[in-house]
Amino acid sequence: MRKILIIYTGGTIGMDYTPHGLQPVAGLFKSQIATLDPVKDVIVDLLEYEQLIDSSDIRIEHWQRMIKDISDNYDQYNGFVIIHGTDTMAYTASVLAFALRGLDKPVVLTGSQLPLVHRRSDGWSNLIDALFAASRDDLHEVAIAFNNKLLRGCRAQKVSTYRFFGFDSVDEEPLAEFGIQINWFNKRWLKATRFSFAPVTPQNAKILDLSLRPGFTTDFIADTLNNTELDAVVLQTYGSGNIPMGNQKLVEALKNAVARGVIIVNITQVNEGRVSNDYASSCLHDLGIVSGCDMTIEAALAKLMVLMSSKMSKETIKNAMSENLVGELTTG
Ligand code: ASP
Repeated sequence: MRKILIIYTGGTIGMDYTPHGLQPVAGLFKSQIATLDPVKDVIVDLLEYEQLIDSSDIRIEHWQRMIKDISDNYDQYNGFVIIHGTDTMAYTASVLAFALRGLDKPVVLTGSQLPLVHRRSDGWSNLIDALFAASRDDLHEVAIAFNNKLLRGCRAQKVSTYRFFGFDSVDEEPLAEFGIQINWFNKRWLKATRFSFAPVTPQNAKILDLSLRPGFTTDFIADTLNNTELDAVVLQTYGSGNIPMGNQKLVEALKNAVARGVIIVNITQVNEGRVSNDYASSCLHDLGIVSGCDMTIEAALAKLMVLMSSKMSKETIKNAMSENLVGELTTG
């Protein structure tokens, strides 16, 4: 008999309507799913966190706890489902994708736009799809099950606050589609790993998420870059990786930061596509800035945080930022 552990962290799916708005209620998720007999021949256990949260409250400590809970239960279960709020689910999925090194079992995150107590909740189908995905022996990665699709966790982003179509992964095709039939696109799945399971515990790092905006890329930004103690910057640039090269102060500040040992990673603000060297204003390699290809902001931040939490040299981290580790970016 296969076994799945559901780790319940909070989120709308298990919330109830209160005078203060939607809030997680202890025990409610458990009582809602008690009647459910979702996947045949699978034993499902529930680990409910004492402090259920709206995922806007997620902190590094929560990721550390999830990683520990998966590690502690790794040998006892065939797969894991993490119940999570949608607001930061893509961040958690990305952190887990990089932190759970050597993962050879499914870890599937899900949640919902409407709570289970609502008659039209999308939570039921999301949960059942997640359980189906978590029972697959050939899925060796972190994924998000949402709105009839299974998405690679480190490629997914929240795209709607009000549609059931809450998540998408524009630069990567879905891993499965749940219709009348389930289409498992297993050719797209990560291959089984050669490494043994050795999770990394993410630690705090001083990483700046800096999105360029016309009219706002001012002296203040350059001064901040020059005067702030930083480990890394994710630079969200225009189009195919362009920055205002005419802004000498900014360019100098970026060069200075690189010279001080700050790792700067270039990703595009545009939803679809990657940074390139097509324009004079996108040749950031000459400034010592590393290409993040088509990584999402969630993946870029998570990857930096996890790599910095492992014992790797800065040079190795810089190289790894442009390499495909867990399907987070498109090379070639
Ligand atoms: N604010 C909620 C959360 O992220 C939204 C949701 O779950 O859909 O916890």
